[in-house]
Amino acid sequence: MRSFTFYERVSRAFNDYPSLSKFLVVFTVSGGGVVAYAEANSTNGAPAIALSESENVKKKVVVLGTGWAGTSFLKNLKNPTYDVQVISPRNYFAFTPLLPSVTCGTVEPRSIVEPIRNIVRKKHSDVQYCEAECYKIDAENKKIYCRSTQNGKEEFVVDFDYLIISVGARVNTFNTPGVEEHCHFLKEVEDAQRIRRTVIDCFERASLPNVSEEERKRILHFAIVGGGPTGVEFAAVLHDFVKEDLVTLYPRVKDQVKITLLEAGDHILNMFDKRITTFAEDKFRRDGIDVKTGSMVVKVSEKEISTKEVKNGQISAMPYGMAVWSTGIGTRPIIVDFMKQIGQANRRVLATDEWLRVEGCDSIYALGDCATINQRKVMEDISAIFSKADADNSGTLTVKEFREVIDDICERYPQVELYLKKKQMGDIFDLLKESKGDDAKESIELNIEEFKSALSQVDSQMKNLPATAQVASQQGVYLANCFNRMEECEKNPEGPLRFRGTGRHRFRPFRYKHLGQFAPLGGEQTAAQLPGDWVSIGQSSQWLWYSVYTSKQVSWRNRVLVVTDWTRRFIFGRDSSRI
Ligand code: FAD
Ligand code: MG
Repeated sequence: MRSFTFYERVSRAFNDYPSLSKFLVVFTVSGGGVVAYAEANSTNGAPAIALSESENVKKKVVVLGTGWAGTSFLKNLKNPTYDVQVISPRNYFAFTPLLPSVTCGTVEPRSIVEPIRNIVRKKHSDVQYCEAECYKIDAENKKIYCRSTQNGKEEFVVDFDYLIISVGARVNTFNTPGVEEHCHFLKEVEDAQRIRRTVIDCFERASLPNVSEEERKRILHFAIVGGGPTGVEFAAVLHDFVKEDLVTLYPRVKDQVKITLLEAGDHILNMFDKRITTFAEDKFRRDGIDVKTGSMVVKVSEKEISTKEVKNGQISAMPYGMAVWSTGIGTRPIIVDFMKQIGQANRRVLATDEWLRVEGCDSIYALGDCATINQRKVMEDISAIFSKADADNSGTLTVKEFREVIDDICERYPQVELYLKKKQMGDIFDLLKESKGDDAKESIELNIEEFKSALSQVDSQMKNLPATAQVASQQGVYLANCFNRMEECEKNPEGPLRFRGTGRHRFRPFRYKHLGQFAPLGGEQTAAQLPGDWVSIGQSSQWLWYSVYTSKQVSWRNRVLVVTDWTRRFIFGRDSSRI
């Protein structure tokens, strides 16, 4: 009885405070190696707010989606003054970075998902979940229209005070004919399960006695379209599956297997460091994976893929048995409709401000893959910045005046710091000095034209954030912290000065902290690119990958299941049953 209570307590502690486990897991799994791993999901010690007596009517927060952004928001929301309603067609959270491992049975699908009801059960506030999809957002009347995913007929309307849109993105086929009908995607758990079955189907079909040699070759040709991280990782895990498990089970057909990776650009993994790209291309060539760069898929039919050489426009066709399409993401129809409604029809993705508020809609927030932050340009606000900084209205800015607003400028416009870093300048005064010529730093005095010319290049450093789980989950944590401290920051704003308006912004703007990225390349080799352009390739990075992905699981149940799956694969190999 005693030990059971102890067990329960420990289990509850780890469930309720998963961060307790992070370093433990990193060091355990990495064998205590040198693993520098910062925790992205820290809540910055935000205190939970007690329900104030005057404010006993709960504000209704509606969250759309149970992916990385939505779940991270829900996990970190600690303010009990909200009535939270979650709406998503998926009643679970899926750990997408391990989806490629599901395609070949290295990890089982149920090991990487966690029921959303399990996640919200641990909340101390009111959180309700509805299995439905939202098909229309009415921003003006603060209503959303939903449809049950059970039968597609049950429809209902939900009111909101705040709406959090985190519906992710859909696959982008670039309207290439035949892709929807004939290619597999790798976006959802069901996609990974379907791929796993199809790989085995191909091997079984190719092993039938009446299949011709040519047909066998076609069936065992696996084509992967898109040389980004997902396509590359899938090619690598498929190659491992074939080499480590299937060749011994299907010895008659092993010589006919072919894996082709098609990429329209000049290189695969082009968002990674050049060293990683070169290593990956060389490794794939050594492994016998055919990497065809500069090759754009223009059409897919039932048995053939047509490609166009980017250099000379030459069209050719290759027979295939299974094709996986992984070329990027597009906007979901509900977001396209919503964008038309709020005057963003000419944009590709839903635009928000730096506080993740949808532009033009004060109580609607959007985060994750469905949105992008429309970072304000310094040059758009340059006159407002100048007049706010010119405290004595003299028409010129002195160093002393500038010093008063410099922190606010850097906080409001992060591109300023990036520009200084790129130019290897210590502070913004070096930039002003450069534009003023020989003046000593302390005696610089600028008029508006000189100020404009000094800052004219800083906006060149603006970049959109990538559509990754890392960004989505950090945005979820950030927004939850804002909601946790809404009342407090309403009274005592902590954000930068409003250059165009008066007073200060309530919150600090969202800042993304890049923790690095991995590219698993098969054969227990992984490439890691960590902050500061630190690149590591090989088995040690594979162990880092194991440890980070173990610790990043949303629950202890997932951690145990994933590690068990890896161990099972290591001892018994992957299961090739076609279930
Ligand atoms: P999602 O996680 O896609 O969640 C969207 C949610 O919205 C889902 O629950 C969905 O059911 C729900 N939804 C959809 N439509 C509606 C609707 N109409 N109404 C209500 N709910 C709706 N990123 C990394 O950083 N590292 C990686 O290693 C990595 N690996 C990846 C591997 C694969 C195979 C894939 C596909 C992606 C990978 N990513 C990785 C990217 C990462 O998964 C996405 O950036 C991330 O999922 C985005 O989070 P999100 O919350 O915006 O969307
Ligand atoms: Mg002045």
